[in-house]
Amino acid sequence: MLTKSKRFDRMLAKAKEFMPSTYLNRYVAPKFQLMVRAEYAARDELETVIHQGTIQKVRAHTGYCACVTCGKVLWWKADKKSGVEGIDTGHFIAGRRASILLEETNVAPQCVFCNRHNHGMVEAYSRWMLEVRGKAEIDRLRMLNNQVSRKFELEELVTLRIGYMDRIKVAEENIDAG
Ligand SMILES: [Zn+2]
Repeated sequence: MLTKSKRFDRMLAKAKEFMPSTYLNRYVAPKFQLMVRAEYAARDELETVIHQGTIQKVRAHTGYCACVTCGKVLWWKADKKSGVEGIDTGHFIAGRRASILLEETNVAPQCVFCNRHNHGMVEAYSRWMLEVRGKAEIDRLRMLNNQVSRKFELEELVTLRIGYMDRIKVAEENIDAG
């Protein structure tokens, strides 16, 4: 069932200015990516990463994420004003097809260098996926990616966006609490 609330109605009215695919890419996917980093950053534990070609454990304290393909630990959210670099949410299977764009197991924190300037570090990312998420999950994602692309309705996208925003709020409270 869809969330029926004033918040939902307000967001749906705004969403109707866009095609579902535009709304997905511009308003839903960025929230999804922020949520993934926020939830990583809300934890205070060892993270498995690929560092200098080997699988290693690094400690990412609350508020920080470790780049899965190089091990660099960075604050979860960029802040241009204070010059904080932040970290990206990198996609294992690139291409941004709707069938795979919002799959939580297809994404992980990645530094800007690995994600944008190094073709996503495909080889290291593959090793990390195999180690952390396993072959069955990789196969499931590849199958999803090969399917006819998924069509979202606006109502569904607004519901997803609200869910992501709520999860970000919870994670941010945990980050602030340290
Ligand atoms: Zn990196």
